[in-house]
Amino acid sequence: MKNHIQSVLHQLEQKTQKRMLKNVSSSDGAWIVMNGRKMLNLASNNYLGLANDERLIKAGCQAMRTYGAGATASRLIVGNYELYTRAEEALKKWKKAEAALIFNSGYTANLGIIASLIGRDDIVFSDWLNHASIIDGIRLSKAERYRYRHNDLDHLESLLKQASPHKRKLIVTDSIFSMDGDIAQLEGLVTLKKRYNAILMVDEAHSSGIYGKRGEGLVHHFHLQDEVDIQMGTFSKALGCFGAYVTGEQWLIDYLMNTMRSFIFTTALPPAVLGAIEKSIEIVQQEHARRQTLQVHSHYFRDELQKLGFDIGKSTTHIVPIIIGSNEQTVQMSERLQEHGIAAVAIRPPTVPEGTSRIRFSLSSSLTKEELDWALERIAEVGREMGLIAS
Ligand code: PMP
Repeated sequence: MKNHIQSVLHQLEQKTQKRMLKNVSSSDGAWIVMNGRKMLNLASNNYLGLANDERLIKAGCQAMRTYGAGATASRLIVGNYELYTRAEEALKKWKKAEAALIFNSGYTANLGIIASLIGRDDIVFSDWLNHASIIDGIRLSKAERYRYRHNDLDHLESLLKQASPHKRKLIVTDSIFSMDGDIAQLEGLVTLKKRYNAILMVDEAHSSGIYGKRGEGLVHHFHLQDEVDIQMGTFSKALGCFGAYVTGEQWLIDYLMNTMRSFIFTTALPPAVLGAIEKSIEIVQQEHARRQTLQVHSHYFRDELQKLGFDIGKSTTHIVPIIIGSNEQTVQMSERLQEHGIAAVAIRPPTVPEGTSRIRFSLSSSLTKEELDWALERIAEVGREMGLIAS
């Protein structure tokens, strides 16, 4: 019996990619100490450097002192601390939304929202490159599903045309695609959603805090806040905390609160996180300089990589891949970069399509121009050594 179990486990192990956890012993936003080595951090989603902001840390500590280390129950039981009410009020004002709801994470938000909104009798249309949490939400919903080619509105329209006009339809997209750093065609999606009477949901995980006059996200940047039915976003990236949100009409939020299993059956967020979220929503609206610095850095970094001869795909944002193709070479490049003092991760299938393995750089406003130049020199050196760019 023991041998049988061991052989089953061995077979499973053979199929699994070998990923190793690395030990992070300190991080100040720009620099990280990982496995004992100090590196420039070009791999975190701390886009505005807020994860290390003293004001967030102080607000988190204060909330923990007042309310305790844990929330002790789910929100619908006795875990709905007044911190939630305050943070959701701030969220509503920030996003100019009728209603807002905070969740434990972006992953569980997408799972819950999608599986609550659609079921067996409905149809969902999802961009090929949407995040795994959207894909898993769709699987859980059991709805009829169609994946349209990445950012291909003609393909989406051809699928919408074939769909029964009597069925409920959901179109769902990332606003910034997490592994490519390109942007969804939100205006075109709004046109199609209206033409085919579909619901439109946008995941602003990578754009919250960064786009829009006060960092509201890409939907606001394009002035589409009254056209997009469901805006979801996270506090775990530019806002430097943890957790996620959804904004929309009151009926939608009431419905989600009463039906989302990933909301109902889980303990509420720890008070410290909520204290930090409230502070972060306040800061992110005011400190435009962080957004501007990130834009300047992103532009510069993309341009320089392209001048060197790297393939950065269609990135137009602070997420910048170097697309390499081969899994082995990608892993090798990330290891060499780490040896040179740059934290950069290899992204391989199934996270990205076969043959498009890449290094994913993500920038932060807490980096300096000198640090970017330092990194670019090393990236160029490794690229030349590996024959990825001309000498
Ligand atoms: N949506 C997108 C587009 C993401 O990239 C991520 C996380 N990388 C999530 C949702 C999940 O968010 P969280 O990490 O807060 O669970």
